[in-house]
Amino acid sequence: MKEPQASSHDLNDARASVDPAVLDAVSQRRRAVLDAIAAAARDGGRDPAAIVLTAVSKKQPDDRVDAMLALGHRVFGENRVQEAQMRWASRRAMGPELELRLIGPLQTNKVRDAVALFDVIESVDRDKLAAALAREMERTGRALRLYVQVNTGEEPQKSGVLPGEADAFVARMRSEYGLSVEGLMAIPPADEEPALHFALLADIANRNGLTRLSMGMSEDFETAVRHGSTAVRVGSALFGRRPDV
Ligand SMILES: *Cc1c(COP(=O)(O)O)cnc(C)c1O
Repeated sequence: MKEPQASSHDLNDARASVDPAVLDAVSQRRRAVLDAIAAAARDGGRDPAAIVLTAVSKKQPDDRVDAMLALGHRVFGENRVQEAQMRWASRRAMGPELELRLIGPLQTNKVRDAVALFDVIESVDRDKLAAALAREMERTGRALRLYVQVNTGEEPQKSGVLPGEADAFVARMRSEYGLSVEGLMAIPPADEEPALHFALLADIANRNGLTRLSMGMSEDFETAVRHGSTAVRVGSALFGRRPDV
């Protein structure tokens, strides 16, 4: 597991300002998730250090997020640009070396804000968005890492390119928009065996020369790791249930 160390100064400041009970609860959850990832990786003959744990902080109370920062965690996922701006603009300015990943759908009118804030966008799924991202990265000189989201379950309400269109879309990202694709992302249907979807995503990645797979959430991250996930997106198992706000 990659565990970037904050300077002891940042860490001590952050620890001092977090309720010890919250810090303890988040610390235990995080340890349990890291241990489960490591065990699943070893099962599959993989190096646990090759798997990134994205802490999905959407809708979580600030104290839990600050506890995660105080523990030295630096990779976070958000699914809405505006919510992420409110949470992370000031925390980023405080100095920690964050990696922010957008895991929710992106509207083209939010591309400017998204490129300014995020390091990774995992939800690229259409030409108009690819073109807008290419223009904005060119304009700002910021190079974000991009994932193509695949709608493996072909669910009408879900974002992502259809599996049958993924190869052509990845090719257009590269040739038409000059973008490099880091990997693929998927959210399996809630009521189906996730392993089939993870295997399908791994297959599509393979034939497109892609080595990174963002797959696996609280309920299925161990299965995802056994199927080659390189980045699991875990929210409630790490922070606790999201309060209904
Ligand atoms: C909310 C969310 C997650 C995390 O969900 P949990 O079940 O809380 O782990 C992962 N990926 C995406 C795209 C999400 O929107």
